[in-house]
Amino acid sequence: MDNRRLIIAVDGPAGAGKSTIAKRVAKILNIEYIDTGAMYRALTLKVIRAKVDINNIKEILKAMETTTIEFINNHIYLDGIKVDKEIRENVISTNVSYIAKIKEVRSMMIRLQRKIAESTNLIMDGRDIGTVVLPHANYKFFITASVEERARRRYIELTEGGNESITYEQVLEEIKTRDRIDSTREIAPLKKSPDAHLIDTTNKTIEESVKEVIDIIERG
Ligand code: C5P
Repeated sequence: MDNRRLIIAVDGPAGAGKSTIAKRVAKILNIEYIDTGAMYRALTLKVIRAKVDINNIKEILKAMETTTIEFINNHIYLDGIKVDKEIRENVISTNVSYIAKIKEVRSMMIRLQRKIAESTNLIMDGRDIGTVVLPHANYKFFITASVEERARRRYIELTEGGNESITYEQVLEEIKTRDRIDSTREIAPLKKSPDAHLIDTTNKTIEESVKEVIDIIERG
């Protein structure tokens, strides 16, 4: 890898703090932040809006053929329209893992993600960034936390956003289901790359976790 490039890969399960930490690290190091989960979520939004059955792979792939997913100034665009808010709805969270396990979907996303990483210094987060998408990244991190803590954080996030109809138990179940599908799928399952630094955020503040990441990068 070109020495002048800085490529950081971040993986881990839902709610571990990946995106919050990655965003802050991007700001500190003045590099781009790319949220690959948002890309899978955007395609899921398209499929749900088109009322395509989540098990109908043929129709999902047909919808994908006419889909454009882009990041412009840290916002995600689906077919030219900004969808930052829509992709965070719970209906997307409960369906996205079914879309993300389709082989052709992953190939398309990986192509897009590698293309983005060709031209800029960045920190990219997801489930398979250090293992599959950017195996030659300069730094790799696997960020995790206990499932109860991750559910607690997601629950607070969702209820603060006005979605009061959801219970903590429902969020815990949703996260457990997503963990299971993401970790056991055949292609690019969620797992720690052997060369990734493990960061457990369960009993840490965001600041402490960010510092841990920055310290490792500064040590080189
Ligand atoms: O990161 P986030 O929780 O928004 O990701 C949503 C879903 O997208 C994950 O649960 C997973 O199914 C899928 N995903 C993936 N590979 C990535 C990023 C996300 O399969 N690199």
